[in-house]
Amino acid sequence: MDLQIELDKPEPTYKNNDCVTGHVILNLDSPVDISQITVTLLGRSVSRMERSSHTECHQLIQETLQIFPPCGQLDQNTSRFRTLGPKQYIFPFSLAFPTVSGCYKAHSTKCLEKQPQNEPAPPVRGQEMPHLLRRLPPSTGVRSGPAEIAYAVEANVNIGGFLKQSIKQQSRRIFFCPTSSLPPPRQSLSRHRAVIIRCHQSTNEATAQEVTAAIATTYHVSIELMCGAYLHLGQRLPIRVQITKVNCADHDLILNDFQAMIVEETEVRAAGQVRVQRLSRILRTVSNLRMFVCLAETPVGTTVNIPDDYWGGQLLPTAITPTFETCNVRRSYKLEVRLGFNSRPSKVQTRILEVNFPVHIVATEPAPVPSSILRFSEKQQGNAEDTIPWQGMTQ
Ligand SMILES: [Zn+2]
Repeated sequence: MDLQIELDKPEPTYKNNDCVTGHVILNLDSPVDISQITVTLLGRSVSRMERSSHTECHQLIQETLQIFPPCGQLDQNTSRFRTLGPKQYIFPFSLAFPTVSGCYKAHSTKCLEKQPQNEPAPPVRGQEMPHLLRRLPPSTGVRSGPAEIAYAVEANVNIGGFLKQSIKQQSRRIFFCPTSSLPPPRQSLSRHRAVIIRCHQSTNEATAQEVTAAIATTYHVSIELMCGAYLHLGQRLPIRVQITKVNCADHDLILNDFQAMIVEETEVRAAGQVRVQRLSRILRTVSNLRMFVCLAETPVGTTVNIPDDYWGGQLLPTAITPTFETCNVRRSYKLEVRLGFNSRPSKVQTRILEVNFPVHIVATEPAPVPSSILRFSEKQQGNAEDTIPWQGMTQ
């Protein structure tokens, strides 16, 4: 007996409104008694604690379709069987993704601890776990990793009748990448910081009076995420910087460095324990901008707008998994923006500004991406000369 699942899509990646369609192909080389053939769409959220054996699995989907006997001949008594002769049988199927996870239903959660092989199956504690009703999460993670959202199609052939029963099983991994409809424009998000540059005291009394009575110059810096907290995969993140000179200066202020980074945070829960993993992805790093923001003679109160185009903008890479939450895995993101300033021409002072925005990453219908815009790279950096080291710097 040979059992195969053939999917209609060559790439088994599905969106939330898609149906998983295909055929179960059963090749028999001798007559077989079959009571039932089913196809099941499965989804699970697995969390694993590193350096311990704790694993928790929430069954997000378990949608079963009986494909044999055909619809209308459903017989709950699976001990009744039919004999199928030796040939190839092809059973079409179509299964839709539900809108929300279904692990709140009983018997769908397992809290597993690795047992020696000769010990009984681990206890099922589904009723004790809190379950969240959420949209189905996207596929992510790997089999041995701390967090894994996995989907599969499984075919089961129940063989035999009263006395002897067995099950022939075949499964295929599929990928779920849900999309959202484009939400209405959101209010922009802003962060406000001050950059303070010390002024140099002149040894010449007259000059010192002329320069300024102040000993430091303050600049108000506003960093604005124009599209608000909802970020769309594959689309540009407009970040605007506004700088206002608050008092007079004896130096020029130069914007030299820009960096935008997505910080991914995965909270994993298993058997009452919680672990958090963080991963940073640089979206854009530009050094040596050498942009004169304010000259020494720029009037107090002047505001300078620096549009995103100045450093070429940044795209949100489509490889990022959208924000999601299941009972045992939560993925969230922060957008970090860093700016590096220098004062010139006298003794150079360096100031680093770092702000972050909690953001919600969503996938929308893919939009064409202009090839002229630089794509995401793990470490994309301009000329290293004159680069301000980010680590260990304070404002
Ligand atoms: Zn659950």
